[in-house]
Amino acid sequence: MSTLKMGLKLGCIADDSTGATDLANNLVRSGMRVVQTIGVPAGPLAADVDAVVVALKSRTNPAAEAIAQSLEALKWLQAQGAEQIYFKYCSTFDSTPEGNIGPVTEALMDALGTDFTIATPAFPDNGRTVFKGYLFAGNVLLNESGMQNHPLTPMIDANLVRVMQAQTKRKVGLIDYKTVALGEGDIRERIATLRAEGVGVAVVDATSNDDLHLLGPALKGMPLITAGSGVAIALPANFGLQPSLQASQLPAASGLQAVVSGSCSVATNAQVAHFKSTGRPAMAINPAGLMNGQSDAVVQQVLAWASPLLKDGPVLVYSTAEPDAVKAVQAQLGVAEAGALVEHALGSVARGLVDLGVQQLVVAGGETSGACVQALGIAQLQIGPQIDPGVPWCHAPSAHGGVHIALKSGNFGTEDFFSKAFTVLA
Ligand code: ADP
Repeated sequence: MSTLKMGLKLGCIADDSTGATDLANNLVRSGMRVVQTIGVPAGPLAADVDAVVVALKSRTNPAAEAIAQSLEALKWLQAQGAEQIYFKYCSTFDSTPEGNIGPVTEALMDALGTDFTIATPAFPDNGRTVFKGYLFAGNVLLNESGMQNHPLTPMIDANLVRVMQAQTKRKVGLIDYKTVALGEGDIRERIATLRAEGVGVAVVDATSNDDLHLLGPALKGMPLITAGSGVAIALPANFGLQPSLQASQLPAASGLQAVVSGSCSVATNAQVAHFKSTGRPAMAINPAGLMNGQSDAVVQQVLAWASPLLKDGPVLVYSTAEPDAVKAVQAQLGVAEAGALVEHALGSVARGLVDLGVQQLVVAGGETSGACVQALGIAQLQIGPQIDPGVPWCHAPSAHGGVHIALKSGNFGTEDFFSKAFTVLA
């Protein structure tokens, strides 16, 4: 009797964790069943899925480190049978003249033994478009969008052919909007011409989702794709997959509900206020109270407060505060120390809540999410239905017998997000 082994269709390497979720979300919405892993897993993949997104933290590391991490991820994805590799970076092409987009692309090409790939951060749904090789963020060129002042990866040139050429030894070319508009045949012809000219990486124009759908079929069989999350919307079709409810299906949700919020963004402040206005119980954590080894005691107080309330519906534990309060705490403790103290405490709260029976958990804040995922020992997340753009429900199978978790980065989500999330899951 022969057994059919389900291989992985798409293996993705993302250079940061919220970017990984963004990509996973796009793939799920286009019909793929997706698992996101936190770093490179130690063992084989447990779930039967179409795509895996390995979330790294390699965007601003020294290039050699980013390459090493990415190659480790590639090796693991190949061991899971991945048919095609997708290197995901930011839709604002966040990088320095030293990398890491160019060096990682080159290393992945070498390891895969391929002489050609594309590069496009286009994500029209999010206002990121590429025209004649120039990247626009909204209505302005990348270098006028505020990204020219980014503290770590200032983007002072919107011409992606130039930006990419500065980062790679391979020749960089362009597949422009006129070629893209003609569809698969002409795009493939252009690729053949570029290859004959010795071009190894081609920036691709795309100003709409239609462009991405015209590009998609021409990428079938390409060993490596490098892109933002936009290109992903057209790839599942190459594997015969269509958008379906099954792709985002998670195990049925059960257990108690809670929200842990460490984001101090404008959106999160409004979400905390909204949740409190619905009359649901909410407990604030004051960072100053965590000093001098008091953190564990505060966490125990919070859990003792939450314990009898949880049976009646979701509770909120938050350190979310307005800018003035945050500045005052930072002046007292130092920016990094305040952040670390709060993250550690909220991670412990999340862990304690799960121990109390919480199996539906919303976490607000990028760094806060990282701390909670770590405290819960979560290594893999199955991606489920979208709550708001960029924020899906996820399911962590092995952590404490299964937890549904939503990781909301700072400015995402509508005002009623903390209540709405549980309705979406139900
Ligand atoms: P966002 O996604 O909004 O950026 P993050 O969780 O990534 O949210 O970052 C918020 C940071 O602020 C975290 O390091 C968190 O620990 C810290 N923090 C949260 N509450 C406070 C507070 N009241 N005072 C000072 N720092 C805080």
